[in-house]
Amino acid sequence: MMDFAERAARNEEVFRNVNEGIAAGAEQHSLSGTLPFHCECDRVSCFDTIEMASARYEQIVRNRYCFVVIPGHEEPRIERIVETEPDFLVVEKIGEAREKIDRDHPQPHHHG
Ligand SMILES: [Zn+2]
Repeated sequence: MMDFAERAARNEEVFRNVNEGIAAGAEQHSLSGTLPFHCECDRVSCFDTIEMASARYEQIVRNRYCFVVIPGHEEPRIERIVETEPDFLVVEKIGEAREKIDRDHPQPHHHG
């Protein structure tokens, strides 16, 4: 059985991939305005969406430790809130969850 951080990271990765697809599609079709991005929290039963401009989403996830979640869906054990918006929070992975991202997605360069 996977431990909590492991399971949470996996779940978030699924939604991250979906959301990146949404953002990429918006770019391709030159859509402006907001799009429904999936909440990237760790809750298996969460299928809520967050409306935001795809440019805004891309700006947030440029930091690979950052995820967007609906207020109240943050998990203090594995992440800390770095931005608070009326409709969503930006959270940054900490501790084990952050190490897991490093393990799964080793990247030679870092964004400053
Ligand atoms: Zn959620």
